[in-house]
Amino acid sequence: MAKPHPITAKLSKWFEKNLRPLPWRNSSNPYHIWLSEVILQQTRVDQGTAYYLRFIELFPTVRDLAKAHEDVVLHAWQGLGYYSRARNLHAAAKTIVDKHQGEFPNEYATIRDLKGIGDYTASAISSIAFGLPHAAVDGNVNRVIARLFSIEDPVDSPTGKKQIAALAEELLDIKNPGNHNQAMMELGALICTPRKPNCSSCPVQVHCSGFTSKNQEHFPVKQGKTKVRNRFFSYLIFIDKNQETLVRKREGKDIWQGLHEFPLIESKNAKEQNELHNSLEARYKFKYSESYTHLLSHQRLHIVFLTCWIEELPVDDWNNAIRIKRDDLYQYALPRAITRYLSSIISL
Ligand code: SF4
Repeated sequence: MAKPHPITAKLSKWFEKNLRPLPWRNSSNPYHIWLSEVILQQTRVDQGTAYYLRFIELFPTVRDLAKAHEDVVLHAWQGLGYYSRARNLHAAAKTIVDKHQGEFPNEYATIRDLKGIGDYTASAISSIAFGLPHAAVDGNVNRVIARLFSIEDPVDSPTGKKQIAALAEELLDIKNPGNHNQAMMELGALICTPRKPNCSSCPVQVHCSGFTSKNQEHFPVKQGKTKVRNRFFSYLIFIDKNQETLVRKREGKDIWQGLHEFPLIESKNAKEQNELHNSLEARYKFKYSESYTHLLSHQRLHIVFLTCWIEELPVDDWNNAIRIKRDDLYQYALPRAITRYLSSIISL
């Protein structure tokens, strides 16, 4: 058997002493590990921990998650964003119950086949829960390896990915892959941070090419940034004399699928949005909010909320609209862009 890389042993010792005591650590329950990995994909640990604990309480087993109504799952996820993660968790839980008798699969390929699980998550679950020798490469690991070995190819290019994957496998501690993977990620989260890495406290500094050449912050090299799409949303908040309002469930392949929102009209640009507001004036007397900007990973939403107190709700004008008491709004899973607005006003 090949001798382990010198980085591997040093990293393992450092991790033993420095790991953060997070609630899913010391667990080999694949359902718990899966939940924590999915929640933490785009979320800070302090925020994600509260959601993890709430999910475990609401859905203690994969069977409980599978049999929950999608609205309940989305509601529990509310505020975390990237709702496709919650929908995929739910779909994968159903697959585990239907195809695997409720037992979490213990082979990499079967785990990888579950909805929403990519290479990284499959490697993390299979190594941490089942001790299988797969290197997990997330953003933290990309950065650490790119700096350790001064990888000049962009980490999001095919050649860069290939180099990082090969080095991650080379570094992997095959006797304890779960701890090793967590140690690499922990090093990236605590020491080898995106800005101002704390190299003086780094356990593998003597092996680091980026540090030796005083060029560590040049890495990881990335390809051009993804273009951001601007979208212009006008939400119409109708309130009638019974304090009822209209909401609709978002359908189709777009952001916030399955969440509820007020009737929405989308415009192509700011000019068209202004024209829309002018044309609505002829029909309704609205109170306008200021324009809010809400950022998603690849979209910038420009949102105006138009509130109208009205005798009768125009329910027939909006497909699939339902009338609800405005006090019941928070019983529905709503996009964060809407809850932020609602919590910023006192008149609704
Ligand atoms: S020495 Fe600095 S740049 Fe190199 S791995 Fe450690 S923290 Fe990262």
